Amino acid sequence: GRDVTQQRRSQDMLAAALDKERTAVERLRALDEAKTEFVSTVSHELRTPITSIVGFTEMLQDGSVVEPLPEQLRLLETIARNGERLIALCNDLLMLSGLDSDDVTWRSEEVDLAACLGLVEDSVQPLLAGRDLTVTFETPTGPLHVLGDRPQLERVMVNLVSNAMKFTEDGGVVRARLSQEGDEAVLSVTDTGLGIPLDEQEDLFKRFFRSSTAHTEAIQGTGLGLAIVAAIVEAHGGRIRVRSAHLEGATFTVRLPLLHSGGPSRPVGDPGH
Ligand code: ADP
Repeated sequence: GRDVTQQRRSQDMLAAALDKERTAVERLRALDEAKTEFVSTVSHELRTPITSIVGFTEMLQDGSVVEPLPEQLRLLETIARNGERLIALCNDLLMLSGLDSDDVTWRSEEVDLAACLGLVEDSVQPLLAGRDLTVTFETPTGPLHVLGDRPQLERVMVNLVSNAMKFTEDGGVVRARLSQEGDEAVLSVTDTGLGIPLDEQEDLFKRFFRSSTAHTEAIQGTGLGLAIVAAIVEAHGGRIRVRSAHLEGATFTVRLPLLHSGGPSRPVGDPGH
């Protein structure tokens, strides 16, 4: 009789301990959800007035209201540029909170990555203004199809190429290359820039992470870009890797499963387990 009572008592204690732990986990989860919701609401609320500031600034810039003096024009440009940075930050935060709450609607269509890279080549041209960089793009002659969300995949490419340009000093080279390896599409972006110290590379895809080089060289950014890139690649069933050494450039490689490669094609955003 005594043994049974003893056994029941320890079972009760174990159950109570488990209950307590479960409550703690639930509380943390609720807090985490509240944080995501908060970030999302604040980003939304900030974006609307900033958009209006940028809009009115552009009206002043184009001279339709009054003809601005050169000095005023310079100030207006600064306001517009910073406003746009804030909008981009809000959009990134919205994307990340969307990912956290599984609230991103992914498109699933046939996307030709070769065509995308062509568009990316055009869209990064403005970043070359006033810089002495060699930027080259290599695409296969034919199309390279994946199942995915075209704007998001373009965002991956733009982000990697513009990072490479941003972290490479004048005189340097950036090479974006798309190819097929087996049943995968491979995009690699190589630069001859500042590189990333080895001990910082594992944190590279974490939110808000910026390497010590980015800080010391006073290069602007939020540290959200690569976290978003990694999430997009993952949602497409792909992988991203970096190879780099401090001050010796960096290579980012993205691998995505090709469409019609015989493998299972699952909808974007579905991790498959
Ligand atoms: P941001 O560029 O806004 O700082 P990212 O998330 O795009 O944010 O990048 C995070 C950090 O990774 C950067 O601050 C930089 O330290 C490092 N990084 C990214 N791309 C490169 C690159 N091509 N060369 C060197 N460092 C890079």
